[in-house]
Amino acid sequence: MVALILPQIQTLASHLVNQIAAGEVVERPSSVIKELVENSLDAAAKSITVEVEAGGTRLIRIVDDGCGIAKDELILAISRHATSKIRNLEDLEKIGSLGFRGEALPSIASVSRLNIRSRQASTSDTEIIHGWKINARDDDIAVPDASPPGTTIEVRELFYNVPARKKFLRTEQTEYKHIELLFKTLALSHPNVAFRLIHNQKTIYQLRAADNLEEQRQRLAVLCGKDFAGSLIEINIEIEDLRLNGWVALPTFNRSQADMQYFFVNQRIIKDKLVSHAVRKAYHDVMFHGRHPAFVLSLEMDAGQLDVNVHPQKHEVRFRNSREVHNFLYSGLHRALADVQPSQQIESPAFAITGSQPQSSALPSISEQTGISFNQFTRYPTTPGRVGEQSQAYAALLQTNEADPIRTQPQEAQIPPLGFAIAQLKGIYVLSENLEGLVVVDMHAAHERIVYERMKQNAAGEGVIKQPLLVPFSLNISQAEADLVEESEALFEHLGFGLERLGLEQVRVRAIPALLKNANTDQLIRDVLSDLLEYGQSDRIQEHENEMLSTMACHASVRANRLLSISEMNALLRDIEQTERSGQCNHGRPTWKQLSLDQLDKFFKRGQ
Ligand code: ADP
Ligand code: MG
Repeated sequence: MVALILPQIQTLASHLVNQIAAGEVVERPSSVIKELVENSLDAAAKSITVEVEAGGTRLIRIVDDGCGIAKDELILAISRHATSKIRNLEDLEKIGSLGFRGEALPSIASVSRLNIRSRQASTSDTEIIHGWKINARDDDIAVPDASPPGTTIEVRELFYNVPARKKFLRTEQTEYKHIELLFKTLALSHPNVAFRLIHNQKTIYQLRAADNLEEQRQRLAVLCGKDFAGSLIEINIEIEDLRLNGWVALPTFNRSQADMQYFFVNQRIIKDKLVSHAVRKAYHDVMFHGRHPAFVLSLEMDAGQLDVNVHPQKHEVRFRNSREVHNFLYSGLHRALADVQPSQQIESPAFAITGSQPQSSALPSISEQTGISFNQFTRYPTTPGRVGEQSQAYAALLQTNEADPIRTQPQEAQIPPLGFAIAQLKGIYVLSENLEGLVVVDMHAAHERIVYERMKQNAAGEGVIKQPLLVPFSLNISQAEADLVEESEALFEHLGFGLERLGLEQVRVRAIPALLKNANTDQLIRDVLSDLLEYGQSDRIQEHENEMLSTMACHASVRANRLLSISEMNALLRDIEQTERSGQCNHGRPTWKQLSLDQLDKFFKRGQ
């Protein structure tokens, strides 16, 4: 018989309690750094140095110039549940600091050799003893120390006394990668603080405080790369007490992984499903399938509307009004992405040029030399009348009566952002000359986006404009599909189709969307039906209307090898300029590309 051992309840030794807490908070060297730098930020440091050795396993040293810690409080700082940041429940409900649990220092101290040197900013320089040092092992006695104002915390030999945890550490290199990523994230979250990262005695990053937008953009370029920094849309949206600032990358700069997504709420680093969902949805229409957007976004809101006490490492938050936050993020970003016009994507000082001469010139202009009046763009006159005609020709191509003369007439003597068409290449690309140089347009991709945006606009209003067929025809489909047609008559009407069931497996096609007049109608209807079957019926279809319109738009477009006249090409260019999200086709591929004269000159090594 097995002897019954009665369990005896005991209070755990405080050291063990701290080690248990460390199990949650201190996962690896980078989590130590996160806690310590957050403390420095809470202490209002303006400059923070993060120094590590051997991927943070041998040494982590954080030096800040924050408010410092008084001698008597040094011991408290490393005691469990001791914090200067909250006092009562009311404080807990509107936390303004990054820390508040009073757990980090004692937890870290319980699994490493930790010491703190600190001097309060208020200590006068005339005092001989400037600061104090405490060594968490030596029974917590503070000794005098000549420290500079601020706090220096050293963490040596992480997990030296917890072999089980130590075993889980990865190579120094991997641990360092985690540290670097965290460092970047912290530096992006607090642009107005100077940061420095040192690894094995080598300075990896040295970032000055970024006080204005341009300096912040420079910091982003240093941390995330020039490509990202070169394709930013600035975000600055405010509704009631929600403010969103930062940058999102143009959809054409995208990633195979979600590895350039930085989101901060009240400057706190968070990973939040609601936020990712809102951002993903905002990019939905413009992002190539399976790719991920890049962004650095900072949301500011009333601390009382946010519960940060939901995760030991404080990665997660709970929004008290989550639906409102989701809508705010989604609609703001969606709008910002829709508003990107070609003129914003081309970095050009101005689009309006006055004369017709090439502008530079200590050299005599060609006309002076030759007496011939020279105009860079004379082949494609810009007078309103002509452009009006051109867009009508293109409108005919689109099969609509939508050409709006006011919209498509540029100011006289203005070069539109995408310039004027020169030629068509292989029936696929339109080549155009603008102020910057050469623009190459993927006709099919661009046209597809234009048709898609128009159909969305139609659908949001009265419904997609229908074109009755002179000769209706019948189409054989499966019974399930014919059932769908019967059930979803109103939906098909809304999408611009006139369909009716003829027999068990047959429908009659009376009308199709006017914009798709040239499409292969058979295939178009089959594709829409297969979308419908996939998305199911009734309410879910609403959610997928855009997908269906996008499928339809695919059918409309100027297919490759369709020869366009110069005026049709120009009209296409003007349409791109006017269309929302026109930088990408419905699948997120770019629709056009600028090759500037500088780039061309560099390629041909001109002037070198
Ligand atoms: P919390 O940040 O949740 O308060 P910590 O264990 O991280 O808990 O820190 C305990 C206390 O030590 C803090 O509340 C703060 O008063 C003090 N402290 C820690 N680091 C610093 C620092 N770098 N500068 C000034 N005070 C600090
Ligand atoms: Mg803390």
